[in-house]
Amino acid sequence: MTFPQVEAFRGGDNLIRVVGHRGARGILPENSMIGFDFSLSIGVPLLEFDVVLTADDVPVITHNHRLHAPTFRDANGRFLVGEEPKVSSLTVDQIQQFDIGRLDGHSAYGRRFPDQAQMDGVRVPRLVNLLELVADPKYADACLMLELKSDPDLAHDASYRQKFVKCVLQELHTTSMSSRAVLHSFDWNLLEECQRQAPDMPSSYLTQLPDNADDIGEDSSKAVCPDFRGRHDEIPNLVKEAGGALWCPYFADVTAESVALAKKLGLCVAVWTVNENAEIGRMIELGVDSIVSDYPGRVQRRLSDLGMRWSATQ
Ligand code: MG
Repeated sequence: MTFPQVEAFRGGDNLIRVVGHRGARGILPENSMIGFDFSLSIGVPLLEFDVVLTADDVPVITHNHRLHAPTFRDANGRFLVGEEPKVSSLTVDQIQQFDIGRLDGHSAYGRRFPDQAQMDGVRVPRLVNLLELVADPKYADACLMLELKSDPDLAHDASYRQKFVKCVLQELHTTSMSSRAVLHSFDWNLLEECQRQAPDMPSSYLTQLPDNADDIGEDSSKAVCPDFRGRHDEIPNLVKEAGGALWCPYFADVTAESVALAKKLGLCVAVWTVNENAEIGRMIELGVDSIVSDYPGRVQRRLSDLGMRWSATQ
């Protein structure tokens, strides 16, 4: 089966796609409408973002399954302290009381993004807000890499998985965006549920080898990602067998052999999260299909310098 939204992530002759990670986290608040709007405005129509379900069953765009202390400020402008509340324990109205426009520069997480603009009055978006933005005819080429985030405490609950996928699909259907989204996750059980409920939509399989360290200050994927120890070389085959259309490995995990195998199987290879120039250069040399980056402009710049394209219409 060919999916137009998968082809939107596929590279080609002198062509590598650029995907804005959480919008453009390196320079604007992550998973925010302004970040998405920026990425779309600079000609990067492919957006990666994270979706979690609230207590009142509203899909919202945020990364961790708990409110992330280094990015969430209360009504008094103070970053969260103490135990972070779970997104699934709060209503969307409660979550939107918090401001996500700044980063706590005293945190290890905040120190990773010294160039991010600091803003006030930025709220966690609902999924539907982004779907409505890209429904604008001027963004007709936008495609979404919609990451379904698993709460490790609920990952083994089949009825929760069912409800989560149903709520997300409902919003994609009512906004007519199913043909412009790929369903993306580290949790392969969740992707199986996606395929059961939406056999007409492509799945995107995230992977990270257990030997590589997690990114500082973020939820670990390892609680829900399959353990590939002893099976590194088989990962593209496993993705294909699971019914995947895209394979999204951590950039440090890929080799020329694994990229070649994935492409031979017809998979589209989108590597994350590639931010440093040397790493961007290495991924271009490997011939991946898409580069997911917190700095989409940096990847554009590198491709431009090499005389390469990031859009089929360039
Ligand atoms: Mg993500």
